[in-house]
Amino acid sequence: MEKVCVNCSAKFEVTDEDLEFFNKLDASAIELKGISPQSICPDCRQQRRLVRRNERVLYRRDCDACKTQVLAMSPADAPFPVYCSNCWWSDNWDPLSYGKEIDFNRPFMEQFAELQNAVPRAALFGKNNENSDYSNHIENNKNIYLCADVAMSQDIFYSRWIIKCKDLCDCYQLEECELCYESQYSVGMQNNIYTEWSDQSTNLAFCTDCKGCSDCMFCSHLRHKKFCMFNKQLTEEEYREKCAQYDLGSYSIFQDALGKYHEIRSQMFHMAHHFINAEDCTGDYMYNCKNVKSSFGVIESQDCAYCYDAGHMKDCQDAYEPAFECELQYDCHACNRGKRILSNSICYDIDSSAYCDTCHNSSNLFGCIALRHKQYCILNKQYSKEEYEEIVPKLIAHMQSSGEWGEFFPIRLSPFCYNETVAQWYYPLSKEEVLAKGFKWKDREDDVSNVTKKIPAAKLPDHIKEIPDDVLNWAIECNVTGRPFKIAKQELEFYRKMNLPIPRTHPDERQDRRLAYTNPRKLFERACDKCNKTVKTSFSVERPETIYCEECYRKEVY
Ligand SMILES: [Zn+2]
Ligand SMILES: [Zn+2]
Ligand SMILES: [Zn+2]
Repeated sequence: MEKVCVNCSAKFEVTDEDLEFFNKLDASAIELKGISPQSICPDCRQQRRLVRRNERVLYRRDCDACKTQVLAMSPADAPFPVYCSNCWWSDNWDPLSYGKEIDFNRPFMEQFAELQNAVPRAALFGKNNENSDYSNHIENNKNIYLCADVAMSQDIFYSRWIIKCKDLCDCYQLEECELCYESQYSVGMQNNIYTEWSDQSTNLAFCTDCKGCSDCMFCSHLRHKKFCMFNKQLTEEEYREKCAQYDLGSYSIFQDALGKYHEIRSQMFHMAHHFINAEDCTGDYMYNCKNVKSSFGVIESQDCAYCYDAGHMKDCQDAYEPAFECELQYDCHACNRGKRILSNSICYDIDSSAYCDTCHNSSNLFGCIALRHKQYCILNKQYSKEEYEEIVPKLIAHMQSSGEWGEFFPIRLSPFCYNETVAQWYYPLSKEEVLAKGFKWKDREDDVSNVTKKIPAAKLPDHIKEIPDDVLNWAIECNVTGRPFKIAKQELEFYRKMNLPIPRTHPDERQDRRLAYTNPRKLFERACDKCNKTVKTSFSVERPETIYCEECYRKEVY
């Protein structure tokens, strides 16, 4: 069935598989009955979810419970109370004390918004972390600094989407990697610099798509090779000699090497989609997936559609950032180990629930905020099982009549301003556009405290060996945006250990640049540059890169 998005007028398809998925939801939990296809397109749905995620716009403020100063996603003038991690996860407060009786004469969202403005929110989202007060959306880690989406890792800086890694700086989408810098989309890498798509590789620098390789520089499309430079096989002695010409601790030499890397990336041929072991899938950036449709950045998943930056899921649609044992999720954001859930945001270990926000280790909840180890609650009010099962169908009917049922929380109800959230990365809007749509906007102010001097990035000593310890007390002015930033002690140790120059650009700018190197989350029809077959790819027709279909690519690389 073809539909026209009521929001952006784009045409979109509701497939038979989508309808079958709604039937599965219906049969799985009383909280998921009678969901029908939404009136807005997958992109507009994704934008609406992203507005509930602020990863890196953080403010210094006091915890409203213990009054200690913390970094938080919401500034001091936010309409709701904010608690530091210790206070928020403690049993010293009772989220049920904010409970409200449902009023069937008013829209549900209006009542949820009132609850949202009353219940304390966590300064940052994290669980079981040690020495990681400056990071967000992280779980079971140690020493994580200015990162987001990190699990089971240690000593990670300025990185995103990292699982089971150690000693990384400025990386994205890595699993089981160690000692990597500015690297992405790989599993099992060790000691790599600016390397991507290179599983099980060691000591690589400026390489792309080199699997099972070690000791290579400036290479692409290699398999199980050693001592190669610019895709040329050298002896070990020749290789070491040539490598010695690149003292990467020097900023100018590093920049020169980086230029060569970008040249390689623009001139090499690319697979039409970044798939590794993806059977019957459409989208991009997929690894070990089967029957995953219209999705981007998905690993180890099966029978899903419209999912983004997700892993270890089965039977999910419209999910953003869920991971680990996820099943039957629909239109949810960041619900690790969530099953049978609708329109939940940041709920870990949750089952059979709808319209919940930051509720954990719970089941059978409806419209609740910040509950833990609870069951049968609606709008933070406790009911008996019998009462709950009687009210939920009535509430669904009420939301169906108000047009709210099956639709995610509206953008205007986000606890964040539009430009603080991940929505601004993928669906950027100007301040005027944001305000005209009735969303919130906040102008950014950089707050760099405890510095002895400010130094423009261009004035820094060239080589890491020449950088004094005192750099930790300086505010460096980004050479692109002029925004000041500081170097952390462990970060400096990392650059020294790896012989890398300290960065000249602000961490946000570095992340934006990584995002810009990633293809857009859109598919275009284009011909394979070898066999002319039509392929669906995230490389648009106007782009200069050479694109091969999967078959031609395999013939060429393997
Ligand atoms: Zn749309
Ligand atoms: Zn506190
Ligand atoms: Zn081809």
